[in-house]
Amino acid sequence: MDIDKVFKNNQSWIEEKLELNQNYFEDLGKGQTPELLFIGCSDSRVTAEELMGLGPGDVFVHRNIANMVISIDLNVMSVINYAVDHLKVNHVVVCGHYECGGVKAAMQSADLGILNPWLRNIRDVYRIHNKELNAIDNEEKKYERLVELNVKEQCVNLIKTAVVQKAIRTKGLQVHGWVFDVHTGKLIDLKINFTKYLKDIMEIYHLD
Ligand SMILES: [Zn+2]
Repeated sequence: MDIDKVFKNNQSWIEEKLELNQNYFEDLGKGQTPELLFIGCSDSRVTAEELMGLGPGDVFVHRNIANMVISIDLNVMSVINYAVDHLKVNHVVVCGHYECGGVKAAMQSADLGILNPWLRNIRDVYRIHNKELNAIDNEEKKYERLVELNVKEQCVNLIKTAVVQKAIRTKGLQVHGWVFDVHTGKLIDLKINFTKYLKDIMEIYHLD
C-alpha cells in the first residue's frame, strides 16, 4: 500500500466535504452526539459507518476480534459505559459477520498463543449451543450459525452489565444483534428480543 496515497485521499475527502458544507469541520469540532454504539469485528471488511451509510459524528465505535463483549475487558466495558452513560446513545449494536476469522479459529483445534483466552469466549458460545450446532451437518452452515449465536450471546453479555440494565429501564435503550454478510453486503437484523433475554437472566444477573 502506498501510504502517501492515504494523505492524498484525505485531502480529496476534505475538499469533498467542504464542497457540500463550508462549515463541515467547524461543526465537527463542536462535539459529538452519536445515537448509536456499534460493537463490531476488527475485520477490514466490516467498516462500521460506511456499510450503514453514516458518517463522522453518527456512530461511537468499538471493534475487536469477533465483536466480543467480555466483562473483564476494560476496553469494551469503558466504551459501553461512556457511550451509554455519558454520550447517552439510544441504541447499542453488536454486529458480527460471516467469514469471521475469529469464529473460524475458535472452531479449530490449534494453540494460538495469546489468542487462546480471547477465542475461549467463542468456544464457550459453542458449548452453550453445542446441541444445535452439532445437529448441523454442513460445516459452512454450522460456521454461519456460530457467527449468529455469538452475536446473540454478546448481546446477552451486554444486558448483564449494570449500565445497560439501568439505561433499558430508565431511558428505553435498545440492544440489537446484526450480521454483516460479506458475500452480499447485506446487513441482517437477527431481531434479538433483548427484553425477553433480560427478563430471563434477571434472576441471576440483576444489578440495577
Ligand atoms: Zn471477524
